Amino acid sequence: MSSFADFRSDTMTAPTPAMRAAMAAAEVGDDVWGEDPTVRALEQEGASLLGKPAALFLPSGTMANQVAIAGHCRSGDELICEERSHVYYYEGGGIARWSGTQVRPLVAADGFPQPHQVEAVVRPCDPHFPRSALLVVENTHNMAGGRVGTPTRIAALAQAARRHGLAVHCDGARLMNAAVALGCTAAELVAPCDTTTLCLSKGLGAPVGSLLAGSAEFVFAARRTRKAFGGGMRQAGVLAAAGLLALREGPSLLAADHARARRLAEGLAGCAWAHVDLAATETNIVMCDLQAGDPQALLDHLRAHGVLAAKAGPRRLRFVLHRDLDDAAVLRCLQACRGFAPAQASRSSAS
Ligand SMILES: *Cc1c(COP(=O)(O)O)cnc(C)c1O
Repeated sequence: MSSFADFRSDTMTAPTPAMRAAMAAAEVGDDVWGEDPTVRALEQEGASLLGKPAALFLPSGTMANQVAIAGHCRSGDELICEERSHVYYYEGGGIARWSGTQVRPLVAADGFPQPHQVEAVVRPCDPHFPRSALLVVENTHNMAGGRVGTPTRIAALAQAARRHGLAVHCDGARLMNAAVALGCTAAELVAPCDTTTLCLSKGLGAPVGSLLAGSAEFVFAARRTRKAFGGGMRQAGVLAAAGLLALREGPSLLAADHARARRLAEGLAGCAWAHVDLAATETNIVMCDLQAGDPQALLDHLRAHGVLAAKAGPRRLRFVLHRDLDDAAVLRCLQACRGFAPAQASRSSAS
């Protein structure tokens, strides 16, 4: 795979030589017994970065989100989120499976509903209705194209939820991308939220793992839920060692990913067959809508030129920048895209 410039996802990073060395040298213990010093260090550094009293290391962002939801919601409850939220769209029906909770999806073009939309769907306290228990926000919002929610917007949303007694969880898989794009701290962004996740295995570059942060009491309970979900790991310090490097070094690399995403977006916008919303390209994700031609033909054309991208809708491709893609990869991608002529595009759509 390494001969391809892989734009399919920022999960496609390989651990750096420094990460592999740190993994080999990691001090470990049984983390289910609370005895792994490297995991403990990662959880402490993560909690401090996220501005929360405590954090928990989990095998994936999906498990981190679902453990959080299970902590906030009971069976028969309802949670409110934007309709393309990862927790609802991409987690295997986990909300219904593990928490018996139903979803009230809201529509928001940029991924962040307005506070009045949230207030409008909160259920009255009446035995006919489920209990509105939780608001989930996603920052950055993946399906909206890596859009960022400012601290002001997140605070207004959280305030609307809280006014009606809902808890607030942030799916912060790419929270550091949002913080870097906005020039604020991650802690500032999630200060209005009860809990947040952070993926170490996306743009930050670790091979495995996510953090869930919140109050000491919430994280204590989440530790039991993680065990029940089968996510208790033993000598997990070998993974946490890479996670610590991702946490320390990863954020400083994200601004370069964002600049490359912008360059890619601007280049793609110059292709006759492509439409790219440049104003919506705020972080490391570029969404490109095909005006002509067959998306699969474009993906095949790119692959033949050593470039991988992914479908994100019937006529939409997603390109994601990350630390293993440099300026040359962006150039290679743009050159391949420019070689996908509209004539060729219309021929393939006619076939
Ligand atoms: C990737 C991602 C997750 C978690 O994914 P895992 O692959 O389970 O680590 C959660 N939320 C968003 C928005 C994501 O992009």
